Amino acid sequence: MPFYADLHLHSRYARATSRNADLPELAWWARRKGITVLSTGDFTHPAWFEELKRGLVPAEPGLFRLRDDLDQAVTGRLPASCRGPLRFLWATEVATAFSRDGRARRMHHLLYVPGTDTAAALIERLGRHGILAEDGRPTLAMDARDLLEATLASGDGAYLVPAHVWTPWVGVLSATTGFDSIEACYGELARHIFAVETGLSADPPMHWRVSSHDRFRVVSFSDAHAPSRLGREATELDTDLDYAAIRRALETGEGFQGTIELFPEAGRYHLSGHRRCGVALEPAEARTAGMRCPVCGKRLTMGVLQRVEDLADRPDGARPDGAAGCRRLIPLPELVAEVAGVGPASKTVRGTVDAMIERLGPELPILEGLPLEAIDDAGFPEVAEAIGKVRRGQVVPSPGFDGQYGSVALAP
Ligand SMILES: [Zn+2]
Ligand SMILES: [Zn+2]
Repeated sequence: MPFYADLHLHSRYARATSRNADLPELAWWARRKGITVLSTGDFTHPAWFEELKRGLVPAEPGLFRLRDDLDQAVTGRLPASCRGPLRFLWATEVATAFSRDGRARRMHHLLYVPGTDTAAALIERLGRHGILAEDGRPTLAMDARDLLEATLASGDGAYLVPAHVWTPWVGVLSATTGFDSIEACYGELARHIFAVETGLSADPPMHWRVSSHDRFRVVSFSDAHAPSRLGREATELDTDLDYAAIRRALETGEGFQGTIELFPEAGRYHLSGHRRCGVALEPAEARTAGMRCPVCGKRLTMGVLQRVEDLADRPDGARPDGAAGCRRLIPLPELVAEVAGVGPASKTVRGTVDAMIERLGPELPILEGLPLEAIDDAGFPEVAEAIGKVRRGQVVPSPGFDGQYGSVALAP
């Protein structure tokens, strides 16, 4: 049975995260969204590591589930339509800050390990390079290549996925970090990397323009800083529930069913621009402007679209053989808000979304696969029409730039 995995998220121990990001709340939202395998997030943080050890119990090889008493309290607060299995997988994100070739480099990496002992071994190694208790996503003073080496050495089955690779300031391939390829960053160990994460402002078709990426599986996850954001992007897999099978899908493509994505224009760094002046420029315009803000003359932050174009050796629209697909969506609360003409945090929206989930099941299958007639028949004809438009790509984006989120409206 295919399932959704969200393998990049944060707990309340990471900076700028929601105070309620604990295990029960993550489990509640994951089931409501329809996610089956969830990252623990932040396991290098000592307090969160203790909470994880207390709250999780072993399930299938390399996977864990919420302790029975905690899980019963969670499912008791959910409609019967949202009580599917939920598994956790040990995963965390770290930042590295180092200098190479006379240039300061900063970037984020996702680390995956098959169990508590390997997690503890990795924590021990990484603790030599930074203060792990400072942030759920700690900053380590170590070279990215050495981080990969430490990850691989922590135990069999451990692996590293470069996080949101195009995103300015935090992605390995961004203009600010300055590596032009995964190999340039991780050196001879790059052969141990088999997947890369797109980040919210990019999507797989943008990766497909760079032929050196053909060997990587392109994954997407929510990077949620609040449990309600889980699954805003996710990866679909059709494997056994088993750490090694999930890893194998990312490594070989066997059982890898592609990703679900926000429209990349909705991300914060799609176009190049200058936030303070409200200037957003397409790649060609930004080049003509000499990468300077036409209003104030300050240097523009290069967006993901322009960076991809700079590294691309294929035209827009090219698709390599065997590439897994991707589907774009707008989160259900945002769609309901647009249909009702109210804000996404309003009571009306919560009431409608609750009723839809109770009658039709979790959010992602409603958005992705459920026949529109079923949504219509359940009493939500206007939302059904809106979902149909998203599925057909009938939307009007206003792209994000320089840290400012973009937005995507339904076409009239
Ligand atoms: Zn990150
Ligand atoms: Zn400006």
